[in-house]
Amino acid sequence: MDSITRKACGKINLILDVTGKRPDGYHDIRTVMQTVDVYDTLTFTKNDSGLVALETPVKGLPENEDNLVIRACELMRSELGIKEGVTIDLIKEIPVAAGMGGGSADAACTLLAMNELFDAGLSKERLAALALTIGADVPYLLHGGTCLAEGVGEILTPLPAPPDCSILIAALPASVSTAQVYGELLLTPATEHPDVDGFLRALRAGDLYQMTSLMGNLLEPVTKRRVKAIDEIENTMLDYGAIGAMMTGSGPTVFGIFDRESDAVKAYHVLRDRGGCADLFVCRPVR
Ligand code: ATP
Repeated sequence: MDSITRKACGKINLILDVTGKRPDGYHDIRTVMQTVDVYDTLTFTKNDSGLVALETPVKGLPENEDNLVIRACELMRSELGIKEGVTIDLIKEIPVAAGMGGGSADAACTLLAMNELFDAGLSKERLAALALTIGADVPYLLHGGTCLAEGVGEILTPLPAPPDCSILIAALPASVSTAQVYGELLLTPATEHPDVDGFLRALRAGDLYQMTSLMGNLLEPVTKRRVKAIDEIENTMLDYGAIGAMMTGSGPTVFGIFDRESDAVKAYHVLRDRGGCADLFVCRPVR
């Protein structure tokens, strides 16, 4: 086998709490992550040059090891002692710097694909350890589906998938830096935290309405101060039948949960016709 093509699904955070700041500057979080069928497509082909080459029509992505695809590929080459080069074609669908974990999803996909392409047989545990050296969300994105992520995001508990629903995702033209958003988060004893345990009970009971009523994201007020459009888009989604709407990750991407696909499609058309969104997707949870 000289070439393989794989999908890298983006994620949304259905609920996101930040429980504290560590002495090393990282934050402890408790979040339920969900992969969705908005994905990048990566093709990995062996080459004789001995080098890693990334080819993508997307402008503005880093072309060195700051690109998580290249970093993950080089990590696997050094872990496995691979001398052969690899050419990676990347077709991006996941909005960049939008809170959907696009770079992390690509990195996770690269680890899995390299393991397969070179028939390396690295264990899940080893891949997860390598993933964590790339970024906090990468171990989760190796796994995908529905998971509770704790610690910096690396302690994973698989969860049942949510009840069937449609998800409308609205990416905004603004992008925010995850580090900056965490940097501006002020945690005090008076901070009101989202009810992650209640959310988990609702998820385990398969109660979509209870789940959406408990959705919350502690980072949302921070990003909303910078990106005013978030509120308006959430309200439009709710006006057109979303049973919950929230920002994912550090944002600024917004998603709405709909129990009827026709409502999600209607809201999609309203937002598209109004303009102001960089990308809109009607999608579903990936199990
Ligand atoms: P997270 O929620 O994990 O912080 P995000 O979804 O907000 O991530 P990404 O799309 O992963 O953001 O991009 C964050 C930064 O990572 C961008 O500024 C981009 O330059 C860089 N980056 C590196 N590799 C990639 C990649 N393969 N795809 C997208 N961005 C990448």
